[in-house]
Amino acid sequence: MVACIGGGQLGRMLGLAGLPLGVCFRFLDPSAEACARDVGELLVAEYDDPRALGRLADGADVVTFEFENVPVEAAARVGAVPGRAALEQGQDRLREKELFRSLAIPTARFGSVEETGLPALVKSRRLGYDGKGQRRVDVADALGEGELAEELVAFDRELSIVGVRARSGETRFWPVGENLHRDGILRVTRAPAPGAPQSDAEAICTKIMDALDYVGVLAVELFEVGGRLLANEFAPRVHNTAHWTIDGAATSQFENHLRAILGLPLGPTELRAPSAMVNLIGSVPALEAMLELPGARVHLYGKAPRQGRKVGHLTLIDPAEDTVQRAVALADAR
Ligand code: AMP
Repeated sequence: MVACIGGGQLGRMLGLAGLPLGVCFRFLDPSAEACARDVGELLVAEYDDPRALGRLADGADVVTFEFENVPVEAAARVGAVPGRAALEQGQDRLREKELFRSLAIPTARFGSVEETGLPALVKSRRLGYDGKGQRRVDVADALGEGELAEELVAFDRELSIVGVRARSGETRFWPVGENLHRDGILRVTRAPAPGAPQSDAEAICTKIMDALDYVGVLAVELFEVGGRLLANEFAPRVHNTAHWTIDGAATSQFENHLRAILGLPLGPTELRAPSAMVNLIGSVPALEAMLELPGARVHLYGKAPRQGRKVGHLTLIDPAEDTVQRAVALADAR
Protein backbone atom coordinates (compact mmCIF):
# COMPACT_ATOMS: atom_id res chain seq x y z
CA MET A 1 0.00 0.00 0.00
CA VAL A 2 1.23 3.50 -0.91
CA ALA A 3 0.31 6.43 1.32
CA CYS A 4 0.15 9.84 -0.32
CA ILE A 5 0.11 13.27 1.29
CA GLY A 6 -2.40 15.16 -0.85
CA GLY A 7 -5.45 13.80 -2.67
CA GLY A 8 -5.73 16.01 -5.76
CA GLN A 9 -5.53 14.98 -9.40
CA LEU A 10 -1.87 13.98 -9.19
CA GLY A 11 -2.71 11.61 -6.34
CA ARG A 12 -5.67 10.32 -8.33
CA MET A 13 -3.51 9.57 -11.38
CA LEU A 14 -0.89 7.88 -9.16
CA GLY A 15 -3.70 5.76 -7.72
CA LEU A 16 -4.98 4.89 -11.19
CA ALA A 17 -1.46 3.82 -12.23
CA GLY A 18 -1.24 1.62 -9.13
CA LEU A 19 -4.46 -0.33 -9.76
CA PRO A 20 -3.21 -2.71 -12.51
CA LEU A 21 -0.02 -3.32 -10.50
CA GLY A 22 -2.05 -4.38 -7.48
CA VAL A 23 -0.81 -1.32 -5.56
CA CYS A 24 -3.52 0.29 -3.46
CA PHE A 25 -3.55 3.77 -1.97
CA ARG A 26 -4.39 5.80 1.10
CA PHE A 27 -4.53 9.60 0.79
CA LEU A 28 -4.43 12.43 3.31
CA ASP A 29 -6.20 15.64 2.32
CA PRO A 30 -7.96 18.43 4.23
CA SER A 31 -10.93 18.26 1.82
CA ALA A 32 -13.57 15.52 2.01
CA GLU A 33 -14.13 16.21 -1.70
CA ALA A 34 -10.49 15.42 -2.65
CA CYS A 35 -10.73 13.75 -6.05
CA ALA A 36 -8.30 10.92 -5.24
CA ARG A 37 -10.99 9.43 -3.00
CA ASP A 38 -12.31 7.59 -6.07
CA VAL A 39 -9.13 5.49 -6.26
CA GLY A 40 -8.24 4.77 -2.63
CA GLU A 41 -8.98 5.38 1.01
CA LEU A 42 -9.17 9.06 1.98
CA LEU A 43 -8.25 10.42 5.41
CA VAL A 44 -9.60 13.93 5.88
CA ALA A 45 -7.29 16.02 8.08
CA GLU A 46 -4.72 18.82 7.92
CA TYR A 47 -1.30 17.87 6.51
CA ASP A 48 0.47 18.63 9.77
CA ASP A 49 -1.96 16.73 12.02
CA PRO A 50 0.33 14.25 13.83
CA ARG A 51 -2.40 11.68 14.51
CA ALA A 52 -3.60 11.73 10.93
CA LEU A 53 -0.01 11.36 9.67
CA GLY A 54 0.40 8.35 11.96
CA ARG A 55 -2.76 6.78 10.54
CA LEU A 56 -1.64 7.61 7.01
CA ALA A 57 1.68 5.82 7.40
CA ASP A 58 0.33 2.86 9.39
CA GLY A 59 0.93 -0.28 7.32
CA ALA A 60 2.14 1.64 4.24
CA ASP A 61 5.07 0.29 2.20
CA VAL A 62 6.06 3.85 1.40
CA VAL A 63 4.75 7.40 1.90
CA THR A 64 4.91 9.89 -0.97
CA PHE A 65 3.36 13.30 -1.74
CA GLU A 66 1.74 14.96 -4.72
CA PHE A 67 2.67 18.59 -4.16
CA GLU A 68 5.87 20.16 -2.95
CA ASN A 69 4.47 22.60 -0.41
CA VAL A 70 3.77 19.84 2.10
CA PRO A 71 5.21 20.84 5.52
CA VAL A 72 8.76 19.43 5.64
CA GLU A 73 8.39 18.34 9.27
CA ALA A 74 5.21 16.41 8.49
CA ALA A 75 6.80 14.65 5.51
CA ALA A 76 9.94 13.86 7.51
CA ARG A 77 7.89 12.49 10.41
CA VAL A 78 6.47 9.75 8.19
CA GLY A 79 9.69 9.21 6.19
CA ALA A 80 8.12 10.41 2.95
CA VAL A 81 9.91 9.66 -0.34
CA PRO A 82 11.44 11.66 -1.97
CA GLY A 83 12.97 13.04 1.15
CA ARG A 84 13.61 16.17 3.09
CA ALA A 85 16.43 17.54 0.92
CA ALA A 86 14.27 17.76 -2.21
CA LEU A 87 11.43 19.41 -0.32
CA GLU A 88 13.60 21.92 1.50
CA GLN A 89 15.47 22.98 -1.62
CA GLY A 90 12.33 23.09 -3.76
CA GLN A 91 10.10 25.06 -1.37
CA ASP A 92 12.27 28.15 -1.32
CA ARG A 93 12.98 29.79 -4.67
CA LEU A 94 16.23 31.32 -3.41
CA ARG A 95 17.62 27.99 -2.19
CA GLU A 96 16.44 26.38 -5.40
CA LYS A 97 18.32 28.92 -7.51
CA GLU A 98 21.38 28.59 -5.27
CA LEU A 99 21.29 24.83 -5.78
CA PHE A 100 21.23 25.38 -9.56
CA ARG A 101 24.18 27.76 -9.26
CA SER A 102 26.16 25.33 -7.11
CA LEU A 103 25.63 22.67 -9.80
CA ALA A 104 26.70 25.06 -12.60
CA ILE A 105 23.16 24.96 -14.07
CA PRO A 106 22.45 28.28 -15.86
CA THR A 107 19.52 30.37 -14.58
CA ALA A 108 18.12 33.85 -15.06
CA ARG A 109 20.06 36.37 -12.95
CA PHE A 110 18.54 36.50 -9.48
CA GLY A 111 18.89 38.29 -6.15
CA SER A 112 18.06 41.96 -5.62
CA VAL A 113 16.73 44.24 -8.38
CA GLU A 114 20.24 45.78 -8.56
CA GLU A 115 21.61 42.33 -9.38
CA THR A 116 18.98 41.40 -11.98
CA GLY A 117 18.61 44.72 -13.79
CA LEU A 118 15.25 45.97 -15.10
CA PRO A 119 12.67 44.90 -16.02
CA ALA A 120 12.56 42.20 -13.37
CA LEU A 121 10.06 39.74 -11.96
CA VAL A 122 9.65 39.78 -8.21
CA LYS A 123 8.48 36.45 -6.82
CA SER A 124 7.64 35.34 -3.32
CA ARG A 125 10.30 32.89 -2.13
CA ARG A 126 7.74 30.49 -0.71
CA LEU A 127 4.39 29.00 -1.71
CA GLY A 128 4.30 30.52 -5.18
CA TYR A 129 2.92 28.35 -7.97
CA ASP A 130 1.18 28.80 -11.33
CA GLY A 131 2.47 32.38 -11.51
CA LYS A 132 0.87 33.31 -8.18
CA GLY A 133 2.89 35.67 -5.99
CA GLN A 134 4.67 37.30 -8.96
CA ARG A 135 4.89 40.91 -10.05
CA ARG A 136 6.75 42.68 -12.83
CA VAL A 137 8.94 45.60 -11.81
CA ASP A 138 10.01 48.25 -14.34
CA VAL A 139 11.49 50.89 -12.03
CA ALA A 140 13.94 50.39 -9.18
CA ASP A 141 12.06 49.02 -6.21
CA ALA A 142 13.01 47.50 -2.88
CA LEU A 143 12.18 43.86 -2.27
CA GLY A 144 9.68 43.02 0.42
CA GLU A 145 10.20 40.47 3.14
CA GLY A 146 10.56 36.96 1.66
CA GLU A 147 10.83 38.16 -1.93
CA LEU A 148 13.32 37.38 -4.67
CA ALA A 149 13.94 39.26 -7.92
CA GLU A 150 14.70 37.56 -11.22
CA GLU A 151 15.79 38.96 -14.54
CA LEU A 152 12.80 38.96 -16.92
CA VAL A 153 13.93 36.49 -19.56
CA ALA A 154 12.89 37.04 -23.19
CA PHE A 155 12.79 33.31 -23.82
CA ASP A 156 12.11 31.70 -27.21
CA ARG A 157 9.97 29.01 -25.60
CA GLU A 158 9.31 27.16 -22.35
CA LEU A 159 10.36 23.53 -22.12
CA SER A 160 10.38 20.92 -19.40
CA ILE A 161 12.31 17.75 -18.76
CA VAL A 162 10.78 15.06 -16.60
CA GLY A 163 12.91 12.20 -15.33
CA VAL A 164 12.75 9.33 -12.89
CA ARG A 165 15.50 8.04 -10.64
CA ALA A 166 15.51 4.62 -8.99
CA ARG A 167 16.97 3.76 -5.58
CA SER A 168 19.99 2.33 -7.44
CA GLY A 169 20.66 5.75 -9.00
CA GLU A 170 19.54 4.61 -12.46
CA THR A 171 17.80 7.44 -14.35
CA ARG A 172 15.40 7.59 -17.30
CA PHE A 173 13.84 10.56 -19.07
CA TRP A 174 10.81 11.27 -21.18
CA PRO A 175 11.15 13.40 -24.30
CA VAL A 176 11.32 17.13 -23.55
CA GLY A 177 7.93 18.87 -23.69
CA GLU A 178 7.18 22.34 -25.05
CA ASN A 179 4.81 24.25 -22.80
CA LEU A 180 2.41 27.12 -23.39
CA HIS A 181 1.17 29.06 -20.38
CA ARG A 182 -1.55 31.64 -20.10
CA ASP A 183 -2.12 33.76 -16.99
CA GLY A 184 0.71 31.75 -15.40
CA ILE A 185 -1.21 28.46 -15.83
CA LEU A 186 -0.10 25.65 -18.14
CA ARG A 187 -2.46 25.32 -21.11
CA VAL A 188 -0.73 23.06 -23.64
CA THR A 189 2.24 20.71 -23.69
CA ARG A 190 3.57 19.21 -26.92
CA ALA A 191 5.95 16.29 -26.78
CA PRO A 192 8.45 15.80 -28.11
CA ALA A 193 9.27 19.50 -28.45
CA PRO A 194 10.57 19.91 -32.02
CA GLY A 195 14.34 20.35 -32.10
CA ALA A 196 14.67 20.40 -28.31
CA PRO A 197 18.13 19.99 -26.75
CA GLN A 198 17.19 16.67 -25.12
CA SER A 199 20.65 15.70 -23.86
CA ASP A 200 21.33 19.17 -22.36
CA ALA A 201 17.98 18.98 -20.56
CA GLU A 202 18.71 15.47 -19.30
CA ALA A 203 22.11 16.61 -18.01
CA ILE A 204 20.42 19.37 -15.97
CA CYS A 205 17.82 16.98 -14.53
CA THR A 206 20.48 14.37 -13.72
CA LYS A 207 22.59 16.88 -11.80
CA ILE A 208 19.61 17.87 -9.64
CA MET A 209 18.43 14.31 -8.97
CA ASP A 210 21.95 13.10 -8.16
CA ALA A 211 22.69 16.08 -5.89
CA LEU A 212 19.52 15.36 -3.87
CA ASP A 213 20.02 11.56 -3.99
CA TYR A 214 16.50 11.66 -5.31
CA VAL A 215 14.11 8.71 -5.76
CA GLY A 216 10.99 9.10 -7.92
CA VAL A 217 9.85 11.47 -10.66
CA LEU A 218 11.24 15.00 -10.83
CA ALA A 219 10.45 17.77 -13.32
CA VAL A 220 12.55 20.78 -14.32
CA GLU A 221 10.97 23.79 -16.01
CA LEU A 222 13.32 25.43 -18.49
CA PHE A 223 13.53 28.54 -20.64
CA GLU A 224 15.14 28.15 -24.07
CA VAL A 225 17.00 31.26 -25.20
CA GLY A 226 18.95 31.12 -28.45
CA GLY A 227 19.33 27.33 -28.15
CA ARG A 228 20.59 27.61 -24.56
CA LEU A 229 18.68 26.31 -21.54
CA LEU A 230 18.07 28.22 -18.30
CA ALA A 231 16.53 26.36 -15.37
CA ASN A 232 13.50 28.13 -13.87
CA GLU A 233 12.39 25.69 -11.21
CA PHE A 234 12.14 22.03 -10.32
CA ALA A 235 9.26 20.08 -8.82
CA PRO A 236 10.04 16.95 -6.75
CA ARG A 237 6.93 15.12 -7.94
CA VAL A 238 4.90 14.06 -10.95
CA HIS A 239 4.21 17.08 -13.13
CA ASN A 240 1.44 18.51 -15.33
CA THR A 241 3.83 18.80 -18.30
CA ALA A 242 4.18 14.99 -18.39
CA HIS A 243 0.50 14.02 -18.19
CA TRP A 244 0.77 13.11 -21.88
CA THR A 245 2.96 10.14 -20.88
CA ILE A 246 -0.16 8.19 -19.78
CA ASP A 247 -1.16 7.86 -23.41
CA GLY A 248 1.96 8.80 -25.37
CA ALA A 249 4.86 6.98 -23.68
CA ALA A 250 5.72 3.33 -23.04
CA THR A 251 5.46 3.89 -19.27
CA SER A 252 3.70 6.88 -17.70
CA GLN A 253 5.31 9.23 -15.19
CA PHE A 254 2.79 7.98 -12.59
CA GLU A 255 3.70 4.32 -12.99
CA ASN A 256 7.42 5.04 -13.00
CA HIS A 257 7.12 7.16 -9.85
CA LEU A 258 5.48 4.17 -8.14
CA ARG A 259 8.06 1.76 -9.51
CA ALA A 260 10.91 3.98 -8.26
CA ILE A 261 9.59 4.58 -4.74
CA LEU A 262 8.64 0.90 -4.31
CA GLY A 263 12.09 -0.28 -5.44
CA LEU A 264 10.68 -1.98 -8.56
CA PRO A 265 12.36 -2.00 -12.00
CA LEU A 266 11.79 1.22 -13.98
CA GLY A 267 9.76 0.97 -17.18
CA PRO A 268 10.84 2.23 -20.61
CA THR A 269 10.14 5.91 -21.18
CA GLU A 270 10.25 6.12 -24.96
CA LEU A 271 7.62 7.81 -27.04
CA ARG A 272 4.73 5.74 -28.34
CA ALA A 273 3.40 8.60 -30.42
CA PRO A 274 3.89 12.37 -30.62
CA SER A 275 1.34 13.88 -28.25
CA ALA A 276 -0.27 17.15 -27.28
CA MET A 277 -1.84 17.69 -23.88
CA VAL A 278 -4.49 20.37 -23.39
CA ASN A 279 -5.52 21.30 -19.85
CA LEU A 280 -9.21 21.72 -19.06
CA ILE A 281 -9.43 24.70 -16.73
CA GLY A 282 -12.52 25.95 -14.93
CA SER A 283 -15.10 23.53 -16.30
CA VAL A 284 -15.43 20.44 -18.50
CA PRO A 285 -16.53 20.76 -22.16
CA ALA A 286 -19.19 18.35 -23.49
CA LEU A 287 -17.79 14.81 -23.47
CA GLU A 288 -19.09 14.12 -26.96
CA ALA A 289 -17.29 17.15 -28.42
CA MET A 290 -14.01 16.08 -26.82
CA LEU A 291 -14.36 12.47 -27.99
CA GLU A 292 -14.99 13.64 -31.54
CA LEU A 293 -11.47 15.07 -31.77
CA PRO A 294 -9.29 12.59 -33.69
CA GLY A 295 -6.89 10.74 -31.38
CA ALA A 296 -8.28 12.34 -28.21
CA ARG A 297 -7.96 10.63 -24.85
CA VAL A 298 -10.07 12.25 -22.14
CA HIS A 299 -8.96 12.47 -18.50
CA LEU A 300 -11.45 14.02 -16.09
CA TYR A 301 -10.48 14.50 -12.47
CA GLY A 302 -13.95 14.40 -10.88
CA LYS A 303 -13.54 17.92 -9.45
CA ALA A 304 -16.29 20.50 -9.12
CA PRO A 305 -15.94 23.32 -11.70
CA ARG A 306 -14.36 26.51 -10.40
CA GLN A 307 -12.59 29.36 -12.15
CA GLY A 308 -8.87 28.72 -12.68
CA ARG A 309 -9.10 25.14 -11.41
CA LYS A 310 -7.59 22.24 -13.37
CA VAL A 311 -10.52 19.84 -13.84
CA GLY A 312 -9.09 17.51 -16.47
CA HIS A 313 -6.91 17.21 -19.54
CA LEU A 314 -7.02 15.87 -23.08
CA THR A 315 -4.19 14.00 -24.69
CA LEU A 316 -4.18 14.12 -28.47
CA ILE A 317 -2.26 11.28 -30.07
CA ASP A 318 -0.25 12.19 -33.16
CA PRO A 319 -2.51 15.21 -33.77
CA ALA A 320 -2.72 17.47 -36.78
CA GLU A 321 -2.12 21.12 -35.80
CA ASP A 322 -5.75 21.84 -36.60
CA THR A 323 -6.84 19.23 -34.01
CA VAL A 324 -4.74 20.89 -31.32
CA GLN A 325 -6.31 24.26 -32.16
CA ARG A 326 -9.81 22.72 -32.04
CA ALA A 327 -9.05 21.20 -28.63
CA VAL A 328 -7.76 24.53 -27.30
CA ALA A 329 -10.87 26.32 -28.64
CA LEU A 330 -13.08 23.72 -26.98
CA ALA A 331 -11.22 24.09 -23.68
CA ASP A 332 -11.55 27.90 -23.94
CA ALA A 333 -15.20 28.01 -25.03
CA ARG A 334 -16.68 28.70 -21.61
P1 AMP B 1 6.92 30.20 -11.97
O1 AMP B 1 5.97 30.61 -10.90
O2 AMP B 1 8.36 30.44 -11.69
O3 AMP B 1 6.64 28.79 -12.46
O4 AMP B 1 6.56 31.11 -13.23
C1 AMP B 1 5.33 30.99 -13.92
C2 AMP B 1 5.51 31.49 -15.35
O5 AMP B 1 5.95 32.86 -15.32
C3 AMP B 1 6.60 30.75 -16.12
O6 AMP B 1 6.10 29.57 -16.68
C4 AMP B 1 6.97 31.79 -17.15
O7 AMP B 1 6.01 31.84 -18.18
C5 AMP B 1 6.90 33.09 -16.37
N1 AMP B 1 8.23 33.41 -15.77
C6 AMP B 1 8.70 32.98 -14.58
N2 AMP B 1 9.94 33.43 -14.35
C7 AMP B 1 10.28 34.20 -15.41
C8 AMP B 1 11.43 34.98 -15.76
N3 AMP B 1 12.50 35.06 -14.95
N4 AMP B 1 11.41 35.61 -16.96
C9 AMP B 1 10.34 35.54 -17.78
N5 AMP B 1 9.22 34.84 -17.50
C10 AMP B 1 9.17 34.17 -16.34
